[in-house]
Amino acid sequence: MSYRRLLHWGPIITLFIILSLFIISILTVLLWWYPRDFAGKINFVLLFFWLFNVLRNFLNAVWLGPGYLPFQWRPNVDSDIQFLQFCDVCRGYKAPRVHHCKTCSRCSMKMDHHCPWINNCVGHYNHKAFTLFLIFVILSCLHVTTIIGFCIYSNLLWRHGRIFITYDKNAFIQMNHAVMLILFFGFGMSLSVFLSVAFLFYFQLLSIIRNQTGIETWIVEKAENRNREDKFIYPYDLGWLKNIKQVFTWSSYYIGDGIDWPVRQGSNKHALTIEQLLQKEIKKANAVDYVACSVYSGYRFPITLGLKTCFDSPWIADSRIPLNIGDEFLATRWRKHWVFGEKLQNSAESNLSSNKYALEVKGWVPRCCLKDIYDNKNTSSRDRKYK
Ligand SMILES: [Zn+2]
Ligand SMILES: [Zn+2]
Repeated sequence: MSYRRLLHWGPIITLFIILSLFIISILTVLLWWYPRDFAGKINFVLLFFWLFNVLRNFLNAVWLGPGYLPFQWRPNVDSDIQFLQFCDVCRGYKAPRVHHCKTCSRCSMKMDHHCPWINNCVGHYNHKAFTLFLIFVILSCLHVTTIIGFCIYSNLLWRHGRIFITYDKNAFIQMNHAVMLILFFGFGMSLSVFLSVAFLFYFQLLSIIRNQTGIETWIVEKAENRNREDKFIYPYDLGWLKNIKQVFTWSSYYIGDGIDWPVRQGSNKHALTIEQLLQKEIKKANAVDYVACSVYSGYRFPITLGLKTCFDSPWIADSRIPLNIGDEFLATRWRKHWVFGEKLQNSAESNLSSNKYALEVKGWVPRCCLKDIYDNKNTSSRDRKYK
């Protein structure tokens, strides 16, 4: 895997935080707890142990990636095609548990989410490395926050309503105002990293115990909430112990090919993909056809279209789709001044896009640039509740 994955603001900031906290914790050793006694030596060795494991699992999570499905992938058995979704960008079928990541522009195996801090998706190959990275970050931050906290406390003295910095003649280096400022900075950074990563780890743990990625939880919720006669059975939940063993193996970082997944007894290996296709059909049936009545440049904040449109612009990474007058647009989600959907391509454009893998046609457009195709006809039997 290319080193270029590291040349991105996410991994650069993460590495900066890891190394800064390590240097500040070494500072506390020199200021306050020089490794002369046994406990001091354990504390010193533990800091290097955390650094090694945090960096090792972080770099593995970056380089292993989720495992990408090959371009133009097809299942071995042709009859399986009817149960699978097709990825227009990768020009191939999506195997079970595979989702297309817009940022990576590839289909990721058992995709959980795209993590900007590792500049990669979290999925099949790197699930264990990513989770271990979170565990070691939590343990090391707990340790570092405690020793920085004690170091600050032992060097401050409260006298006559004022705070003084105390000096220890036996310390390896002497305390001063600049060093105290660095310690406060380290304490704040370590505590905030601990809290935010612990929060993330809680959801990651739930996901492993249930063997259900973030995306799959979303699909299952929709499956349970829509009108149906039977109860939806999630196929990959094999019981908490077997689920954990699927991610945490002693021998390697991952088991299985990321395409064929064991399912619970009585369940179908395509149960989730069949449900996804059905949800897609329902979404299409509720979609509304529009035609573009004015040009939209694709800007996130198109000031020329009015302040209301500008302020209502969705604060999410989804793309914006430029429009020309006459373009047809199929909408599936609505905001007050924006619409999400798919720009329908004519055949000339479709031929062009077959040579161009990453042509984006799904995204948001301003509502004021669109006109309902059925406005002039009396055929509007479509769902208008969103309007
Ligand atoms: Zn794809
Ligand atoms: Zn990704």
